[in-house]
Amino acid sequence: MKIAVLPGDGIGPEIVAQAVNVLQRLAQDGLKIEMEYAPIGGAGYDAAGDPLPDATLKLAQAADAVLLGAVGGYQYDTLPRPQRPEQGLLRIRKGLGLFANLRPALLYPELASASSLKPEVVAGLDIMIIRELTGDIYFGQPRGIEIRGGERVGVNTMIYSESEIRRIAHVGFGIAQKRKQRLCSVDKANVLETTELWRQVVIEVGKDYPDVELSHMYVDNAAMQLVRNPKQFDVMLTGNIFGDILSDEASMLTGSIGMLPSASLDEKNKGLYEPIHGSAPDIAGKNIANPLATILSVAMMLRYTFGLETPAQRVEGAVKHVLAQGYRTADIYTEGTQKVSCSEMGSAVVAAL
Ligand code: NAD
Repeated sequence: MKIAVLPGDGIGPEIVAQAVNVLQRLAQDGLKIEMEYAPIGGAGYDAAGDPLPDATLKLAQAADAVLLGAVGGYQYDTLPRPQRPEQGLLRIRKGLGLFANLRPALLYPELASASSLKPEVVAGLDIMIIRELTGDIYFGQPRGIEIRGGERVGVNTMIYSESEIRRIAHVGFGIAQKRKQRLCSVDKANVLETTELWRQVVIEVGKDYPDVELSHMYVDNAAMQLVRNPKQFDVMLTGNIFGDILSDEASMLTGSIGMLPSASLDEKNKGLYEPIHGSAPDIAGKNIANPLATILSVAMMLRYTFGLETPAQRVEGAVKHVLAQGYRTADIYTEGTQKVSCSEMGSAVVAAL
């Protein structure tokens, strides 16, 4: 298992160090893991004047999987756009052909009080949102701001080809098969032709997966249902822009941004794994960040790129165990639990393993 490790900026190096300790603990039990580090984001700019240095992209391309911390920092906010840390992320996703973004929203019972919704609405929540990542209105042409009829108009194009929809639908159904066999495809087929095609193709692909129960929901209703009764969902499948918004909404149902991992996959299940949060410059260098989202990203890597379900569950089980033991980093701390640092939380997970 060749893993490119890209810690990035801010809290990135602190949280990635804990995830690496978890991988090293698994290696002691026989997993053959090779790790190589490279800079990305602001760290890439500092090292090579580029948020995605050539050597970093090459390393990521040669690896089986990429473990990423986060990018970004105040000191880079005034750089020209192509040199900003976030460009490194967009370029590596493109450079690796990562088209399927998997974002679980899972609420551990111990953390139910962290949600802004009532505990009974969210306790036991376990949703997987699958978002198409390389198409849709974010990339469609034509785009721009131009003058028409003597005034400025902004133009973007919502576009999906049949093949783009088909490949993400296969990912969605495949994952639903391994979960509770329920897939809800989200569109706006009543108004937008692009998503009318989306619905047609999803139905066609669904014929290959008769064991998965397929339903459809308009995106406005899906946004409402996510806060009304989120536990009705198992897997949600959607395009780039709707997925962008719904996955952030779903992650906030859990109330703890430091807990949620993500995966972005290519056609051969090579993946980039990262926490959903950013580089948290406000707490960087203080050893107080929550490393669990990054550690859970390792579990996703084991499951989706390497097909190693047992070690993946072992990592997830270790995280559940430390929460049950009462360990909490500052972001999820409540009275009566034990506040620990980033490195202490990482060590607790390793001990639980
Ligand atoms: P952020 O996710 O970095 O932080 C939001 C808030 O959550 C902050 O108060 C932060 O302290 C807290 N937080 C985040 N992760 C945490 C963790 N693991 N443990 C404890 N607390 C945590 O978002 P932001 O403040 O909007 O952005 C900061 C920088 O990160 C910006 O430069 C932004 O562009 C970048 N960013 C990067 C990514 C990425 O790398 N994928 C994603 C989002 C934002």
